[in-house]
Amino acid sequence: MRPTATVVHDHPRALPAVAGVWSRCYQRAGPPVSHEIATPAFVLRTRPYGESDLIVTFITEQHGKLTGIGKGAKNSKRRFPGTLQPFLHVRVVFRQRQTSDLAFLLRCELIEALRGITTDVDRFAAASYVLDVTDRMVLGRESGAEVYTLVREALRLLAGGAPPDPLLRALELHLLCASGWAPVFDRCRGCGAPADTALFLSVERGGVLCRRCVPVGEVVHPVGAETAALLTRLAAEPLAQATAGCGLEEAARVTEELLTAVTSGPVRSRAFLNRTRVDSPTTLR
Ligand SMILES: [Zn+2]
Repeated sequence: MRPTATVVHDHPRALPAVAGVWSRCYQRAGPPVSHEIATPAFVLRTRPYGESDLIVTFITEQHGKLTGIGKGAKNSKRRFPGTLQPFLHVRVVFRQRQTSDLAFLLRCELIEALRGITTDVDRFAAASYVLDVTDRMVLGRESGAEVYTLVREALRLLAGGAPPDPLLRALELHLLCASGWAPVFDRCRGCGAPADTALFLSVERGGVLCRRCVPVGEVVHPVGAETAALLTRLAAEPLAQATAGCGLEEAARVTEELLTAVTSGPVRSRAFLNRTRVDSPTTLR
């Protein structure tokens, strides 16, 4: 990291108007303002700000979910050469502002273009969902490198043609685990009995309950034993090993209920995902 002890570009009036040698002394002796920070990242979403700026939210390797403003980003091909877009693996360089949570984006460089995603509508829908659900699950800077790695792996696998459904279910389960909401499907959340009899999903408890442990009046839904086994497998294995199994459709309903309970808003791309499944002739199965 390179200290920037002379000019603060985003606060041009931060230094007092003192001329000559006193100005130089002040600058050398002043507090360290901010440093350029570089981190691998993926764009989660962008929105325009004014005529030429963009506000961009990333999931980063070392700084969790980061939102920053790119001055002139709509037009700057030198600092942002088409890199503030989804499905690109990038290295974003930013400076943290001391008076704002909004970082100051300096430039963004391409690491890897995952071209396979934008050539297929199903992969595009699935990859959009990956970014959207990550955005909803992660609230701020608290997430570690684990979430970034999950996003990177999921997008790479989708670009390479991995079947979306088991991969997305596995991603959802891994994200729940990484966010401290690890669900339990291999035993009853109440008494610990093995999950081999009638099971019921309790969103409140984050897992399944056996019939004896369902409290009177609690809203629960039955879950097949094969679905519980599939969810257990998908949560335990790396994303690259996520394959379909019995109960995959029911597993989607289970993870949707769990995610709805812990996310900060509706995951809109899930509706898009479901619609492409119906609309696309290649996915009528
Ligand atoms: Zn029980």
